[in-house]
Amino acid sequence: TLSDRLNKVFTGLRGKGRLSQADIDSVAREIRIALLEADVALPVVRQFIAAVKERAAGEEVSRALNPAQQVIKIVNEELVKILGGETRRLQYAKQPPTVIMLAGLQGAGKTTLAGKLARHLKDQGHAPVLVACDLQRPNAVNQLQIVGERAGVAVYAPEPGNGIGDPVAVARDSLDFARRAQHDMVIVDTAGRLGIDTEMMRQAAAIRDAVQPQEILFVLDAMVGQDAVNTAEAFRDGVGFTGVVLTKLDGDARGGAALSVRYVTGQPIMFASNGEKLGDFDVFHPDRMASRILGMGDMLTLIEQAQKTFDQDETERMASKLASGNEFTLEDFLEQLQAIRRMGPIGNLLGMLPGAGQMKEALAAVDDKDLDRTAAIIRSMTPGERADPKLINGSRRLRIANGSGVKVSEVNNLVDRFFEARKMMSRMSGMGMPGGRRNAKN
Ligand code: GDP
Ligand code: MG
Repeated sequence: TLSDRLNKVFTGLRGKGRLSQADIDSVAREIRIALLEADVALPVVRQFIAAVKERAAGEEVSRALNPAQQVIKIVNEELVKILGGETRRLQYAKQPPTVIMLAGLQGAGKTTLAGKLARHLKDQGHAPVLVACDLQRPNAVNQLQIVGERAGVAVYAPEPGNGIGDPVAVARDSLDFARRAQHDMVIVDTAGRLGIDTEMMRQAAAIRDAVQPQEILFVLDAMVGQDAVNTAEAFRDGVGFTGVVLTKLDGDARGGAALSVRYVTGQPIMFASNGEKLGDFDVFHPDRMASRILGMGDMLTLIEQAQKTFDQDETERMASKLASGNEFTLEDFLEQLQAIRRMGPIGNLLGMLPGAGQMKEALAAVDDKDLDRTAAIIRSMTPGERADPKLINGSRRLRIANGSGVKVSEVNNLVDRFFEARKMMSRMSGMGMPGGRRNAKN
């Protein structure tokens, strides 16, 4: 698995302060192999590796996490990103009923999902009806009726004994039925074939045109591996869909389908099915799937905690410095600039201070290049100058400007701004910051 492979690399990283390019390359190689083994599509693997490499190389040295943890954090975050980030919710019709159409290969789990989805919606207070538009297989209508009964929802199906019905007509008629019987959600189950087939696509497209669904959910068996991408593309082109449902996640699916389908089709994964029972169903959570693929649930919790504790310590330390105005030095300022680049705690911090709205806006307006320039100037100062900026006279300013490759006026500007900010901080602390000194002077 991915976690086994990463662990192997990390053993070699123990005790290192920072990742070298060689370390990053070898991590990237292992991730690449693991993803290919998990049947992730090649373009997705490429994109993923590029993103991880770029971030790993650009990451500041973190005091909260060791290099291995930092890589795990990056890999995890990139996994979540490629899985779609946030969960998307269903779109509803302005005028009920809302129509949800299910499409996918035979055996993908559409009919089973129809029952689960109906139950889920019913639990939320909706009144769904299941519509039997799979008239291909002799037993399909009956199967849906059993599923509906189990879920405790109505099923709309053609009268038995009328020969093979027309699924498009059934779909169309079901909307009238839903309106009459006050069903606000219509779930249309359709037929699938074992392979992609033009007749099936034509039928699905005709049903789509007849009912104009708000959502077309492409139901995908997570166990299928590399074929997932081809099937998804065929359904995207033949019918189109607005969301994906992954089924059979209770099997030993390695996540390849999940990672590929979202990236390749651009459509979100909305639900996940993980068993044959009605309750084996959930809204899809990219973060949970990511930690499953990574196989490092405990490690991720640890990382999150380390980061949180660190942020808290840092925030408290800075808050007490800010409150006492005078003790805040250019060294602290430099540290803060680096922290902003990492995670932006000064923005949060200032948000908590009284009257800090304007300053916060000013900070938000500063871009990364400005921050880097400012940091470069401070780095050209001696420790003494950073601790006591009043030392920085004319000749020192020239030396600093030359050292950091900027104009003297920029150094002047920085020093002025620093004193301004410090003055403002002591004023704010005088306004009643808890624990702040009342009469801090400059
Ligand atoms: P359809 O042809 O797309 O309608 O697929 P079905 O709903 O009939 O499901 C095909 C088979 O997969 C059935 O035996 C289901 O019980 C099974 N199945 C569906 N979803 C899941 C799931 O999430 N996990 C497992 N283990 N089996 C599933
Ligand atoms: Mg079916």
